Amino acid sequence: MNPHTHFLFPFFIALVLYKLSILSFKFAIICGLIGMLVDLDHYVEHIIHSKSNRFSLLSTWTNSIKLHRFVQRSFIHEGTGFTILTIIFMVVFLIDYKIALILALGYYSHIYLDHLWVNKPHYFRFKISRFYFKESHFAIFLDIILVISSLIVYFI
Ligand SMILES: [Zn+2]
Repeated sequence: MNPHTHFLFPFFIALVLYKLSILSFKFAIICGLIGMLVDLDHYVEHIIHSKSNRFSLLSTWTNSIKLHRFVQRSFIHEGTGFTILTIIFMVVFLIDYKIALILALGYYSHIYLDHLWVNKPHYFRFKISRFYFKESHFAIFLDIILVISSLIVYFI
C-alpha cells in the first residue's frame, strides 16, 4: 500500500473515536501519520543495503515501487518487531492509554494493510517527473471509500 492509504485507514478509525469523544482530532491526525511513518524503515534499509544514492528519498521510493533490488521491510514489519512493539504499547498503555491507542492503531493498521491478501491483478502505473507510481485498483477503491467515510463521519 502507498503512504496515503496507510494514513487514511488509521485516520478513519481514529476519526470515529474522535466522534465518540475518546480521542481528539489532533490525535486522529497523529494516528494517521504514525500509520505512514512505519514505512520509514524502508529508508533505513535503503541506507544500509543500497550501493548508490544511499540517502536519496527518490532512490528509496523508486526501489520500493519499481526496482525491488532488495527487501526494504525491516524487522518491525515482522514477528520480532511486532512482539517488541506490542510490549512497548502495553507499557505505554500503563502510562497514557490514549498515546498507546494511537500508536497501536497506527502500527497495527499499517501491518494489516501490508499483509492484507487481496487479488490485485490490475494496477495503474505512471510516472510524474522522476517519480514512479503504482496503485492497485483495490487500493484506489479503498482510498475513495475511506475519504468518503471520513468526510461523512467528520460532518455528521
Ligand atoms: Zn509497510
